[in-house]
Amino acid sequence: MQIANNVVASIEYTLTDDAGTVIDSSVGGEPLAYLHGAGNIIPGLEDALLGKQVGDSFKVSIPPAEGYGEKNDALLQVVPKDMFQGVDTIEVGMQFHAQTEHGMQVITVTAVEGNNITVDGNHPLAGQTLNFDVKVIEVRDASAEELDHGHVHGAGGHHH
Ligand code: ZN
Repeated sequence: MQIANNVVASIEYTLTDDAGTVIDSSVGGEPLAYLHGAGNIIPGLEDALLGKQVGDSFKVSIPPAEGYGEKNDALLQVVPKDMFQGVDTIEVGMQFHAQTEHGMQVITVTAVEGNNITVDGNHPLAGQTLNFDVKVIEVRDASAEELDHGHVHGAGGHHH
């Protein structure tokens, strides 16, 4: 069975940046299960998986435009410290969830100068080429409920 729209695929993957540093890996843990064609994973990886079967392994290099997008300087903002109520010490690298006009986003603190806190609303992997080493573990038909919800249930997926 080949990976195609409305099929659930489970993959083992290791993600590295251009310097070869491992950013994320499922190896040794639970494989990632996703519903193909539902936008569950980044477009470049979804495209590379189309037509693959159980046991296939491959490497793919995904440019930012097919990954988490280019870095957008408009998403850098300086905000006053009192926006962070309940946080005693604000440090560079801290991440917070923030409600923005684009929905819920993760923001990262990139500078702290007195009362001025610079936050970056870009995805942490924006602007990066993503190098995936992928192995297909399982391919199966999606259930009607999974198709309805647009995501995978059970192992490697949503539990609800
Ligand atoms: Zn669901």
